[in-house]
Amino acid sequence: MKKPIVIGNWKMYVEKPDAVKAFVMKLKRRPQLLSKTDVVVAPPYTLLPALAQVLGTTKTIRTGAQTVSAFLEAKHTGEVSARMLKVFGIGFVIVGHSERRAAGEKDDMIREQIKRTHEAGMTAVLCIGEVERDPHGAHFGVIERQLLQALKDKTTGKLIVAYEPVWAIGKTAGSAEKPAEIQEMVIFIRKTLADILGREQGVKVPILYGGSVEGSNAKELLTDGGVGGFLVGHASADIDSFIEILTALA
Ligand code: PEP
Repeated sequence: MKKPIVIGNWKMYVEKPDAVKAFVMKLKRRPQLLSKTDVVVAPPYTLLPALAQVLGTTKTIRTGAQTVSAFLEAKHTGEVSARMLKVFGIGFVIVGHSERRAAGEKDDMIREQIKRTHEAGMTAVLCIGEVERDPHGAHFGVIERQLLQALKDKTTGKLIVAYEPVWAIGKTAGSAEKPAEIQEMVIFIRKTLADILGREQGVKVPILYGGSVEGSNAKELLTDGGVGGFLVGHASADIDSFIEILTALA
């Protein structure tokens, strides 16, 4: 069986380089956990140098960015390009997170971000998720549309899909989506990916779940939800709660 992928999205929870160092030093002391999961940490841009420094040659913790510019280079004040991320050894880029969609990022931009990520040889972690759960199933249409729009170019680059129902984000374990419903959605996403990318490529894409994953629900969500791992927000920014999740999955 494949190792579960656990991507920590630190958002703006972690602010200082010292906190990054303390986090990584503690995580490095748990090699048995790191050997059982594929761990990726995605700090804010400002902490990438500190993260790169403390990781050194460590291969068991990989690094991600929380977003990337849709542009290639030059005249774009405030943007950070895929090439610039590569300099810090970034391997994964989260695109289309619901908090960025809510801030105005549209499908066309998300598609460009995926393109830039792939041109730089990194893995795109495409976030999709409905804002509300519809009792008549309209949320499946939302997910299908998000996938169709983001993957219109039929990318052949490395891809992970993170299914994150927006209504389940940022709460506590009891508010996460139920495993049976996650499983139903995973099957739907898998079929949609196969329709868009072709069966051979579609079956290879890991599908993660995100939304109030904590140590207490991680194991059940993994085994009964049929996912390949998790995108974790609040519980990834505190080393003890992150270790609880890794321990539950080990
Ligand atoms: C997220 O925003 O990607 C996320 C999964 O957040 P949380 O774990 O806090 O629900």
